[in-house]
Amino acid sequence: MLFSRKDRLGDKYDTPVFGTIESGSEVAKDVLGKDSIAPNVAYQLIKDELMNEGNARLNLCTFCQTYMEPEATKLMAETLEKNAIDKSEYPQTTEMENRCVSMLADLWNAPEDMKYIGTSTVGSSEACMLGGMAMKFRWRNRAKEAGIDVNAKKPNLVISSGYQVCWEKFCVYWDIEMRLVPMDEEHMSLDVDKVLDYVDDYTIGVVGLLGITYTGKFDDIKALDALLEEYNKTAKISVPIHIDGASGGMFVPFIDPELEWDFRLKNVVSISTSGHKYGLVYPGIGWVIWKDEEYLPKELIFEVSYLGGSMPTMAINFSRSASQVIGQYYNFLRLGFEGYRQIHQRTKDVAMYLSREIEATGLFKIYNDGENLPIVCYRLKDDVNVEWTLYDLADRLAMKGWQIPAYPLPINLQNTIIQRIVCRADLSHDMAELFIRDLKMAINDLNNANVLVHGKKQENKKYGFTH
Ligand SMILES: *Cc1c(COP(=O)(O)O)cnc(C)c1O
Repeated sequence: MLFSRKDRLGDKYDTPVFGTIESGSEVAKDVLGKDSIAPNVAYQLIKDELMNEGNARLNLCTFCQTYMEPEATKLMAETLEKNAIDKSEYPQTTEMENRCVSMLADLWNAPEDMKYIGTSTVGSSEACMLGGMAMKFRWRNRAKEAGIDVNAKKPNLVISSGYQVCWEKFCVYWDIEMRLVPMDEEHMSLDVDKVLDYVDDYTIGVVGLLGITYTGKFDDIKALDALLEEYNKTAKISVPIHIDGASGGMFVPFIDPELEWDFRLKNVVSISTSGHKYGLVYPGIGWVIWKDEEYLPKELIFEVSYLGGSMPTMAINFSRSASQVIGQYYNFLRLGFEGYRQIHQRTKDVAMYLSREIEATGLFKIYNDGENLPIVCYRLKDDVNVEWTLYDLADRLAMKGWQIPAYPLPINLQNTIIQRIVCRADLSHDMAELFIRDLKMAINDLNNANVLVHGKKQENKKYGFTH
């Protein structure tokens, strides 16, 4: 029976939390409780329920940030009430958002003779959705001009089979045919030689992945640009590139500024990224920028009032807290280029240390050693004589608190099970050493154990690798 305050005299302000009525009774869970409970007790109950979820810092499944400086956290907590869409009410917040867009446009080498335009979003999913919508609308407008029957066929989008699920959502929501260029053992990213097999007059654009979520590898975007440059010379309708830089967009500019993947390339018209991945902000922030206003059709722009006038917005969401934008601005102001570079370089060094140590066990074939994105990804070698699988290893590591997923690669490669470690800013070399110690212990335990859990038919679990 659910507790009701009438059953007993109420607690007093000095009743210890674990002496309160609520701490000793069943609390309402699926329907609202009848009475209110004290805030300190509610806090404790909730905090305690969440305690067993694992330590986010040891969750090496995710690219999303699990650490911010206390000053950033304080600032964000103090600005939770600001609504990011209220541009006139919070003009200085809006100014900070615009500064972030400008800094990113600079980081991504937006040409000086063009007028870039961009916005914050909730994450890369919303940002990719906007990039995709712009390509669809622009394609339709241009296809009509070129005399193409826009209703004869569904428009299509070309992307490698290593895509992140947000692109599937985009294609489903917007009724686009998703054309997948398959990956294979020789092509662990977009197979540029095959791209034109999938492109026609109904192609709204090609997506380049700067960081395949599965493996951390980069598509060869420079080669893709050169290919489309040739194609576009004679095409009825030119095909643009959107870069999904969810993870790489805020990593590569600091670590490998010479790599050409951004607005330096002629056919790259828009770029999206997740501020909450290597932008080092807690989840809830993404960015998308178009190289020039030309690439964002007017139909997608809505005006909101701003300082007595109006300003363009193009987000899908309306109200949300501005605190993530402010957190991003804090990081930009606080870290500067050199701060980001130091953090990312250290993160990469840790990834490469991990991959060396993992390779040295002799058991694993390394797919990504941290050379592209700072993630380490590997599978068991074909000829190793062990009875356990990567799923067993993941379970063993979980006993020590480390969350590291094992999962199958995408279509064509789905029989390959890999394990992926995402290194982030808050994984220090010292922690990485502890991890290697735990990994060796786990391998040793498994080698000496009777592994019974998986019979002939083990299901390929998939959780945890998609972000
Ligand atoms: C993580 C990721 C996304 C989705 O990003 P969110 O910010 O979580 O919405 C999209 N594309 C790629 C390549 C990703 O790695």
